[in-house]
Amino acid sequence: MTQHRNVIIVGSGPAGYTAALYTARADLAPLVFEGAQYGGALMNTTEVENFPGFPEGIIGPDLMHQIRAQAERFGAELVSDDVVSVDLSGPVKTVRTLAGEYTADAVILAMGSAYRKLGIAREDELSGHGVSWCATCDGFFFRDQDIAVVGGGDTAMEEATFLTRFAKSVTVVHRRDTLRASKIMAERAEANPKIRWAWNSAVTDIAGENAVSAITLRDTVTGEERQLPVGGLFIAIGHEPRSELVKGQVDLDDEGYVLTTVGTRTNLDGVFAAGDLVDHTYRQAITAAGTGCQAALDAERYLSALA
Ligand code: FAD
Repeated sequence: MTQHRNVIIVGSGPAGYTAALYTARADLAPLVFEGAQYGGALMNTTEVENFPGFPEGIIGPDLMHQIRAQAERFGAELVSDDVVSVDLSGPVKTVRTLAGEYTADAVILAMGSAYRKLGIAREDELSGHGVSWCATCDGFFFRDQDIAVVGGGDTAMEEATFLTRFAKSVTVVHRRDTLRASKIMAERAEANPKIRWAWNSAVTDIAGENAVSAITLRDTVTGEERQLPVGGLFIAIGHEPRSELVKGQVDLDDEGYVLTTVGTRTNLDGVFAAGDLVDHTYRQAITAAGTGCQAALDAERYLSALA
């Protein structure tokens, strides 16, 4: 039998759990689909030093366990299942997992976005131990070190320029001999004396026991390989918002991020979106939590107006 809820939340990162906490405290008894792997992107990291309230920092999974427990304490029902299909068009929304079908008056989408990976050996193993996808999060750990940034777009230029505040040198590794980045971002990076360039180069291997010590670069023209000693490798080759589930129903932008109109509202009444699923720009745990809160308040007001 189909179960009906006030609100269903899809996703279990800082956005989903914060939305769960707020809707639970508003007595809306939210049902949260956490996905097969709960806790979101921070489950893959070690130290988080920029989430307010933890002056000594906190380990990523510990932070997520705490936010999860806080949502559960106020009555959020958490289910470790992937949502496999949705019908969000009418006033009653349908959400399906492999185990069953559920309906709700409001749905909050918080599926996050995946960092694009290089797909090379040891990339995952050394994540949080020198391999990073976020300069804002981890730049501080690389003071006075030689590091590398992979990518040729605006994000790579921004990350490389930002990292020069801490690093001794930053080598930008790019597969081609020209950048994809906008002229202004490229010029800013090119003018920075701490930035070096490895053109026509692809990272093929990462060396280091417990932390990155060097990377192997293959020349994409000649095929020659060389080692570059670095203490950190920042991968800035793009993100993939997890919006496949709602494609064709909810409006997306050209890159697949969910488009929101007023606050966290999408083009569909009763459907709200939060976190990295909508966010090109900030992509931080605190901003995801912030928009998760907004989505909960927007959903609460929407439901009150229905009553
Ligand atoms: P996510 O955290 O990505 O969570 C989305 C969740 O939704 C996932 O659990 C996923 O399994 C689930 N989901 C997806 N599809 C479905 C579905 N169909 N059904 C059910 N569930 C689904 N930020 C900081 O502020 N500080 C840091 O130090 C920091 N370090 C980072 C380190 C790493 C290695 C990474 C990858 C990111 C880091 N970030 C950091 C960024 C931060 O983790 C993200 O900005 C934040 O987690 C985004 O939250 P979110 O809730 O939008 O999405």
